[in-house]
This record gives sequence, C-alpha cells and structure tokens, in this order.
Amino acid sequence: MKAPRALRRQRGKMAIRELRYVGDPVLRTPCDPITEITDGVRSLVQDLLDSVNLEGRAGLAANQIGVGLRAFSWNVEGDIGYVLNPKIVALDEEYVQDGDEGCLSVPGLWYPTVRAWYAKCVGTDLDGKEVVVEGEELMARCIQHEVDHLDGFLYIDRLSKPLRKKAQIAIRKGLAIPAE
Ligand SMILES: [Zn+2]
Repeated sequence: MKAPRALRRQRGKMAIRELRYVGDPVLRTPCDPITEITDGVRSLVQDLLDSVNLEGRAGLAANQIGVGLRAFSWNVEGDIGYVLNPKIVALDEEYVQDGDEGCLSVPGLWYPTVRAWYAKCVGTDLDGKEVVVEGEELMARCIQHEVDHLDGFLYIDRLSKPLRKKAQIAIRKGLAIPAE
C-alpha cells in the first residue's frame, strides 16, 4: 500500500526488489501458504522488509515483488514488520473509513476506498511463533489491502462501480511507473 505523503521517509538502498504492476498475472493469482521455512522464505522476508522501507511505502505483499507466497510487510507510523500466512481474524463491523487508498502496483492513482476502521490478523514469523498484527486507521487499511493482494485482489476491486470504471480507464491510459 502507498503511504500518505506525511508518513513518507527515505532510507539507504538495500535489497530493493522490482515491483510488479497491475496487468501482471502474479497479482491476480492467490498466493500459496508457506509450509516450510527455507532459505528462500528467509530471503523473501528480508526483501519484503528492505523493499517496504522506502519513502511512500506502507505495505508490500510478496506477489508484488513476484513471489506467490503468503507473506507481507508493513511500514506504518515508524513500525516495520512482516507476517507469514496472515489470516484476518477480526474486522470492525461497526466503524469504517473511506479515505483515499493507493497501491504501489497501481502507481499514480488514489481512490476513496471503504475499509473497516480496525483490523486484526494472525500469522507466524520465521521461527514459527505466532504474530498478531492489528491496528486502526492506516494499519487496519494496510492489513486489509495486503491480505487482499495475497488472495489475488487489488484495492480497485473494492471501489464503487463508477470509481472502478474511472480507475480502469486511468489504468488503460497508462500507469505512472516511477523510474528506479
Ligand atoms: Zn497494493
């Protein structure tokens, strides 16, 4: 997920993986559960952490860097972390938020997107220990956005019909893919 401008910050270069953009089938394919912690999974986690730790980035799902496994990282209000095999276990049914949402895989576009105000997901870390990720507002939006990615969805699928149409037209006109 893209971070609102006020939260952006920049760090030095690390293992920043190239992003996949809307139109790439990897973003439309549900990711597989991680059943074994291999060196590949360890390096995926490092890449997710490095690649989310950039100005303007709030969350990153593994398929956004081309890996079809269930893992995502976040960079929200100074907190950076990752979770494997996340499952949403609680959403606030009563309060929603409808602020603008953006996606690193759909660059240059923002649309108001309704999300639960609070979300909680549970997964594991590289040691197999339980990880609970929860929060309100931006963190909640991030959890919902990234788990959607792992299920093969994009936030534009969540938009009202007229907005979704607008987004599709804008995407067809060409994405503002940032220079590396
Ligand atoms: Zn996204």
